[in-house]
Amino acid sequence: MVKYIFITGGVLSGIGKGIITCSIGKMLQARGFEITAIKCDPYLNVDAGTMNPYIHGEVFVLDDGYEADMDLGTYERFLGITLTKNNNITSGQIYLNVIKQERNGGYLGRCVQIIPHITDEIKRKIRITTKESGADIILIECGGTVGDIESLPFLEAFRQIRMEEKRNDTLLVHVTLVPVLNAVGEPKTKPTQHSVKELRAIGLQPDIIVARLETGPLPQSPKEKIASYCSVEDRAVFTSYNIDTIYKLPLILENQGMGDVLTDYLKLESNQPKWSDWEKMVNKFETPKDCVKIALCGKYTDLADSYVSVNEALKHAAAAVGCKVKIELIETELFEEDNPKVELLKKYDGVIVPGGFGSRGTLGKIKAIEYCRTNNKPFLGICYGLQLSIVEIARNLLKLEDADSTECNPKTKHPVIDLLPEQKELTEKGGTMRLGSHEAVVEKNSLTYNLYKSEKIYERHRHRWEINLEYKEKLESVGVVFGAWSFDKKRAETIELPNNKFFFATQSHPEFKSRPWNPSPPYYGFIKASFKK
Ligand code: GLN
Repeated sequence: MVKYIFITGGVLSGIGKGIITCSIGKMLQARGFEITAIKCDPYLNVDAGTMNPYIHGEVFVLDDGYEADMDLGTYERFLGITLTKNNNITSGQIYLNVIKQERNGGYLGRCVQIIPHITDEIKRKIRITTKESGADIILIECGGTVGDIESLPFLEAFRQIRMEEKRNDTLLVHVTLVPVLNAVGEPKTKPTQHSVKELRAIGLQPDIIVARLETGPLPQSPKEKIASYCSVEDRAVFTSYNIDTIYKLPLILENQGMGDVLTDYLKLESNQPKWSDWEKMVNKFETPKDCVKIALCGKYTDLADSYVSVNEALKHAAAAVGCKVKIELIETELFEEDNPKVELLKKYDGVIVPGGFGSRGTLGKIKAIEYCRTNNKPFLGICYGLQLSIVEIARNLLKLEDADSTECNPKTKHPVIDLLPEQKELTEKGGTMRLGSHEAVVEKNSLTYNLYKSEKIYERHRHRWEINLEYKEKLESVGVVFGAWSFDKKRAETIELPNNKFFFATQSHPEFKSRPWNPSPPYYGFIKASFKK
């Protein structure tokens, strides 16, 4: 028997609904249940692949190559599960399927409508994912907030599933913001009351409310007020608040009694939860005193969510090394206006150039890489970071002055980074990069091997350009070591400069597979080298 937990949001988006969803999953995993999670995104994009990380947050890539909403990254990191494209349902996918079916005459002359055709398609996808996952309990989070026009079909589908399933087999958890106004110093419950009213207007009554405060927990009186006005039990109102280590939230909610309420409401076996491994892991994040300072040189620096997996991977690595990590985002255009500004990197223990697209900010990134190479500063290059390291080395060591990626200069005389052959004819942008997990074969006696301790590695990719191997010998002649190759040896996967303390760059995005209890090898090596004085 499968149980369904729906998670909706009220008042504001961006209040940590994804982390609360994961915490619910973790409390159930701690009790021995198999969990999977679906994120419903009401936007009309088919997937997140074409969305700007600066506005929407990072695009998270799955093993199967699907370009997902970043919440799927949070699910994988907390729950330790590998998700597929089925775990993200967007309005774009739903409408595309329904319209394709209509064009094929699939509706036999009927008028195609939001109810029942769109809602049926949503339910069909939820049920297929549930079945294929084999999970005991499925978490289904709806993006955005109640009251958005776009989310209505999803919420209607949730309502219908709740009617179709037995009473104790579904739950609705509503997450809302409880503001505390400075002037009064009192948590205000009115927005929560209104958002529950909005939910009820579409036929949904929450069973559990998680109030999000800046500092918690919620005092007894507003808690009772929420319970009474929103028709939930007192014991079913919980608080989430700002914490340094997000992985601590499942423990906080467990201490508030949420695990037992979930068990009781869903009529699950009340197994004793096992938290010892998780607690040990959280301690590793919280106890270290020493800190490494890392410069993250990118261009989407106004929105921290643009690099969330990189940030998390750095934190996982630091916890494993036994230190804290302070990550500062640096807009690389800064280095372009005024060359000496690159000296600013001196105060950091390590520098990372993450993935990116387009030419804005590249000159600054190249300057940052040159600084690391020539000053022996630990450096980690991710995807675009690898490509720009090759450009830097070609320009400054091989003296190929206009060496470039054809992404930035299609007419360069020295295209050291060029489009993958299969990309040259492509015109469609959505889902057409080299995506997902690809096998790479590691050279023994390389830093790559030292990091991964394995001859074969499987990391996730998302790129159109790659190193032009016509320059292979030239690059090797100035000290570049190729540490891993695609299985057919046609593609370079990692590069290293063995003369430096730590200079490593990879064509893949290892951050996507980093887990809080099992850090990504390149990130671990990078933090270890940066921490060593
Ligand atoms: N823009 C580069 C490419 O498409 C790098 C992509 C990335 O960093 N993810 O190959």
